[in-house]
Amino acid sequence: MDLFEVTQSENSLTSTIDTDQTDYLVLEVRNLYKDYHTPAGVTHALRGVNLKLYPAEFVAIVGKSGAGKSTLINLITGIDTITSGEIFFRGEAVHSLSEEQKTKWRGRNLGVVFQFFQLLPTLNLLDNVKIAMDLQHFLTPIERRERALELLDLVGIKEHAFKIPAKISGGQQQRVAIARALANDPALIVADEPTGNLDSHTAAEIFDVFATLAKRGKTVLIVTHDRGIEKWATRKVEMIDGMVYEK
Ligand code: ADP
Repeated sequence: MDLFEVTQSENSLTSTIDTDQTDYLVLEVRNLYKDYHTPAGVTHALRGVNLKLYPAEFVAIVGKSGAGKSTLINLITGIDTITSGEIFFRGEAVHSLSEEQKTKWRGRNLGVVFQFFQLLPTLNLLDNVKIAMDLQHFLTPIERRERALELLDLVGIKEHAFKIPAKISGGQQQRVAIARALANDPALIVADEPTGNLDSHTAAEIFDVFATLAKRGKTVLIVTHDRGIEKWATRKVEMIDGMVYEK
């Protein structure tokens, strides 16, 4: 089974990125603005953000609290609505999709990893990964199970496949969450502070997993406060007062 069809490879588990695709834009954010209106007044959370992401990039967004990092992630994932601007995913205008279309688009094209893992506590790890595929109906039940096991293997956690989340560590749970994010073979993995709840050693292991995915052709976009991120990320951008600066 091809775990990473975006790499266009016969055997993706042993492959690296096809260099012919490196100029292929995965995500383009154009002139993005976000205002929050509260009784206390208006907050201009994003003030004209432009960002281009390519295959095989591991991009880290850094910046002080309140700079707009989570807002940007929430607009890219479609969790929140934009005030103005455009978001294109492989050329498709995501900002123009209806809520229903956006939900489908997200399920097919994005893998989202959360700070607190958000695994379903009563399901074993295999089923936690498999359930993301069950919602998409691309594979037969046997293929879904096989793929879930391969993904758990990829993130180094296959031996625990039949345990429930409470029986494994936080770092291991985040590996499962990454496997789940990969379930539908998305081109883009997005994570807001994925190591915010992990110690530095475990955080390094998780960054290693993301770096490996990027080397295999995925685009990875994370928000992080981790100072050592340069070791893994291929690119770092800084957010200051709702704007993005390349570092
Ligand atoms: P960061 O992730 O960099 O800490 P955020 O994107 O969370 O920054 O916040 C950017 C700005 O937008 C902050 O001033 C924050 O208070 C404000 N903000 C974020 N979410 C909301 C919201 N739901 N309602 C009102 N203001 C918000």
